[in-house]
Amino acid sequence: MKEFTFQSSSGPKVYTTRINDDGLLSCDCQGWTMKRLNRARGCKHTKQVSAGLNVVERAGQMYVVGGGSPPPVAATPAKPTTKADFINPMLASAIPAGQTVDGYSQGFTMEEKFDGIRLVIRTGNGSVQAWSRLGKVRAVSADIHDELARLPEGVYDGELILTTSLRSSGTESLVLFDCLEIQGHSLLRQPLASRRRFLEMAVSALNGSTAVRVATMRITSTPARASRQTWRIR
Ligand SMILES: [Zn+2]
Repeated sequence: MKEFTFQSSSGPKVYTTRINDDGLLSCDCQGWTMKRLNRARGCKHTKQVSAGLNVVERAGQMYVVGGGSPPPVAATPAKPTTKADFINPMLASAIPAGQTVDGYSQGFTMEEKFDGIRLVIRTGNGSVQAWSRLGKVRAVSADIHDELARLPEGVYDGELILTTSLRSSGTESLVLFDCLEIQGHSLLRQPLASRRRFLEMAVSALNGSTAVRVATMRITSTPARASRQTWRIR
């Protein structure tokens, strides 16, 4: 058996990738252990270990076939943040023709909606890159930048809003409502509930920041019930 360890780029966590004697490939990170239906198992660590090796999938497991060259062992290199790192945010779509809201039996997710500037943000290794909804590079205020730099490596979707009051001309803050990628793992095919868990976990690292927060969300049984509920805006 061969073992390779990878330091998480955003915390003290260490992931272990193994090639067993029978060639079975495995990793203990979430990207590997959370296998998605009808998709090949994979994570960036096994990808790195298996680079240059012949890997096949059998019965949902990945195997290294034959000898191959020794896999590279290296800490995950810092990724340059370029425009190519932009990910299209998810947009609302209409209910399918013939369907009504009463046809959804699983309940509804209700979320605060702000009218500001949509921002897609990539963080990692202390760097922050922000884009508009269409991928135009955007700047954020120093306060927001410093908070975002503390988030785990990932791609986040949110709305930049300006709060004005009698006393101040305006304070910029960022409300996040989606997480599209975390530590190199794409969440684009994950359901909202799962992406939301990653988002809340990530933002909890900020310890109640006022510049960056997560949009308030409720899950309710019916839309009528949702419309009766009141909101507490922080
Ligand atoms: Zn992994």
